[in-house]
Amino acid sequence: MIPDIELASKETIKKFQEDKLQDLLGYLNNKSNYYKRLFKSHEIDISKIKTLEDLVQIPVTTKDDLQRHNDDFLCVSKETIIDYVTTSGTLGDPVIFALTDNDLNRLAYNEAISFACSGVTKTDVMQLMTTIDRRFMAGLAYFLGARELGAGIIRVGAGIPELQWDSILKFKPTYLIAVPSFLLKLIEYAKNHGIDVNQSGVKGAICIGEPLRNQDFTLNTLSKKITESWNIALYSTYASTEMNTAFNECEAQQGGHHHPELIIAEILDDDNNPVTNGEIGELTITTLGVEGMPLLRFKTGDMVTAHTEACTCGRNTMRLGPVVGRKKQMIKYKGTTLYPPAMNNILNDFSEVQGYVIEISKNTIGTDEICIKIASKNPNDKLLSNIKDHFRAKLRVSPTIEFHDKETIQKLQFPVMSRKPILLIDKRKLD
Ligand SMILES: [Zn+2]
Repeated sequence: MIPDIELASKETIKKFQEDKLQDLLGYLNNKSNYYKRLFKSHEIDISKIKTLEDLVQIPVTTKDDLQRHNDDFLCVSKETIIDYVTTSGTLGDPVIFALTDNDLNRLAYNEAISFACSGVTKTDVMQLMTTIDRRFMAGLAYFLGARELGAGIIRVGAGIPELQWDSILKFKPTYLIAVPSFLLKLIEYAKNHGIDVNQSGVKGAICIGEPLRNQDFTLNTLSKKITESWNIALYSTYASTEMNTAFNECEAQQGGHHHPELIIAEILDDDNNPVTNGEIGELTITTLGVEGMPLLRFKTGDMVTAHTEACTCGRNTMRLGPVVGRKKQMIKYKGTTLYPPAMNNILNDFSEVQGYVIEISKNTIGTDEICIKIASKNPNDKLLSNIKDHFRAKLRVSPTIEFHDKETIQKLQFPVMSRKPILLIDKRKLD
């Protein structure tokens, strides 16, 4: 189930997207108060925006814009809205997204071709291990996608390893949809309860929320831990509510494939110009075919690399590498640019590290400082120099590293009201 356009030549794909862009610009100019105002105030003649290269003439849309003018982005009347979704905003209040019947069909199509990209067929059964309600879009998209594809789906929801295993043994799903670190919990539960994970019939997992791979597409420490115990294929999927679209890995597992009929993807530098091929930049998207709340040049805040070489699966579409990090978490450390996930990967490699927190601050001359606080059962100089060597070899930086007792680290990781452990404390915002 590969859409024809994804097998077409790069030139055909580009032309196809440019035609779709025309439709979108006309639609926004007609229906979106926000974009009507933007075109007017920047004196943009939409009939002059013909190619993907012309997009740079249009100002980008930020998360702040979306929050401040939320209602103005809505292009349809209330009667046509079916589903309401929210995402956390930048300024406290959630941002509301509204989906029409057509948007739900588009979402179903998006997820069906994304599942198919990761090898799921209508003979498969998937077990959904994420939330389907709570005003989230993802869980609903998975359900709609499975239905569109004709695959079975068991909606277990997040957590509860006991119920997950009960369902796996009862319904024999072939694919799981899960946060990868939760798969480790399932493995642990299985070990403690005499369940052989490799006899479960599960052959793959569609993984969300956490990266599976390093930038060269080799498995990271988390994925290695999973696959050492459980012989399943791990497929990364990257998606967001704003995009209404997913980028799933195919069987080649060389990045998430772009679906050109659903979204235009630009990778931009700090001045909102496209980066040179292969460089890291901020993913900026333009939705195609969205009726309720389409977005034009929306900056996602995610730093990524595009891969444009042909893929062995036959698709000619661009692939996105693992998210390098969030733009606002970018650290400039002694001439090197880096992001927290790369440091997490290094620290996760050390079994002696029981817990850690990365603190980023600004020093007196205004540049970034990194201090990594580590808890270990056996803190010693050899471990310290091993960790430092790893940082130098992999990231070409040598941050300050301190040993602390486990209680101190836990207090830092779980401040009052926090349910998820905090691995990054960014003090720069307070300056
Ligand atoms: Zn592929």
